[in-house]
Amino acid sequence: MKALDELTFDNRFARLGDAFSTHVLPEPLDAPRLVVASNAAMALLDLDPAVAETPVFAELFGGHKLWAEAEPRAMVYSGHQFGGYTPQLGDGRGLLLGEVYNQAGEHWDLHLKGAGMTPYSRMGDGRAVLRSSIREFLASEALHALGIPSSRALCVIGSDTPVWREKQERGAMVLRLAHSHIRFGHFEYFYYTKKPEQQAELAEHVLNLHYPECREQPEPYLAMFREIVERNAEMIAKWQAYGFCHGVMNTDNMSILGITFDFGPFAFLDDFDAHFICNHSDHEGRYSFSNQVPIGQWNLSALAQALTPFISVDALKEALGLYLPLYQAHYLDLMRRRLGLTTAEDDDQPLVERLLKLMQNSGVDYTLFFRRLGDESAALAVARLRDDFVDLAGFDAWAEQYKARVARDGNDNQEQRRERMHAVNPLYILRNYLAQNAIAAAESGDYSEVRRLHEALSKPFEEQAGMEQYAQRPPDWGKHLEISCSS
Ligand code: AMP
Ligand code: MG
Repeated sequence: MKALDELTFDNRFARLGDAFSTHVLPEPLDAPRLVVASNAAMALLDLDPAVAETPVFAELFGGHKLWAEAEPRAMVYSGHQFGGYTPQLGDGRGLLLGEVYNQAGEHWDLHLKGAGMTPYSRMGDGRAVLRSSIREFLASEALHALGIPSSRALCVIGSDTPVWREKQERGAMVLRLAHSHIRFGHFEYFYYTKKPEQQAELAEHVLNLHYPECREQPEPYLAMFREIVERNAEMIAKWQAYGFCHGVMNTDNMSILGITFDFGPFAFLDDFDAHFICNHSDHEGRYSFSNQVPIGQWNLSALAQALTPFISVDALKEALGLYLPLYQAHYLDLMRRRLGLTTAEDDDQPLVERLLKLMQNSGVDYTLFFRRLGDESAALAVARLRDDFVDLAGFDAWAEQYKARVARDGNDNQEQRRERMHAVNPLYILRNYLAQNAIAAAESGDYSEVRRLHEALSKPFEEQAGMEQYAQRPPDWGKHLEISCSS
């Protein structure tokens, strides 16, 4: 266990120089205080969880203090936003403080979001509000606990600093951790500004530090792109299987590591709805729940375009062709497991599709359906779940097929079925209304609810005493919350 002043820095991105990022100091928040910290994330830095409660912790992550070895930098990138190219974006309110090595030899970027104005702030104020910082914190740690690749969050620091959005709010900072903060948009920036030397340097950097195994391949850059395609296919399959809607899949929000990144108006589905749009500002539904799959491919194509200086167009196209079949294989594998199946049959895909259509038509709670399906034998569970469906004849027909499929699967020990299914079907999910309740309490100075919710979500598959309120269907108001980009 380390104390805060014992972290070991090695700032590899900063060393790429001024063409890639700009030195900027964090702008401190007034009266910084700890809102919530993640013990699991603290462990990634070998930090003793107790240090989160010390005043110096809030000072460091509230922008007042810096380690001597830190080199805070705002990164430059660009990206396609809602399908159109924006030539210059960048860290407008976040700073890469430095890269820290842990005892296992892993390195973690420390990225402080809400740290004030930078050369890339455009019209923004460089700040993040408490509401969005809590949402990013909870989502990062909840996704990780579900087994969905994501950036991590160490803590949220609240303050007295006023920040104006639609109304006056309070400024906050979230300390984000990832092995890299490089986005698809970094490659697009150097491609479209026609800076081949820097682009080559960036590609070398990513290959050497993040895809070293691709070095051994005959075409290292192609191998790296293929790996990025594979990771995205798997990540998005997990989003779809667990009902996660990212909301702003712009290429500047897509990580080069294939992890969920840059949380805004995200949501987990309550009722199953394939057409759900979580971002109130997404009028055309470009990033609706089911569109995430083709948009994943669209984003990879945008990255492929930026990699044309290194890889032939034919090879890029071939690699892009891997995306959809890989996505489908991962998705089906997960959905089979969510249904308790241990074998594969050709008709499993239509079995899943028919179920989702029935759930869609009846507004069935996506998370609780699967959890309850595993509570009992297939026959008892479907008999109990039947009441949630409007099209009873349709559900009965599906239930017969499901029971027959479970019988063919052959693993009919009920104890094992429950264990197997509960291990992949969460009881606790980050529902918008739960986040909203925790935010409302935090805005009035009570951080206990955020901390409790975080605790429940950090073990989403395990039933925890006293956490029943997080395993309910949302109240009616909770289903229609409008979350915009303003954060
Ligand atoms: P986002 O929608 O959060 O991914 O942000 C898109 C771009 O706008 C990024 O370049 C951000 O750094 C920038 N940005 C978002 N909010 C602010 C803000 N309050 N101040 C400055 N820049 C911002
Ligand atoms: Mg962003």
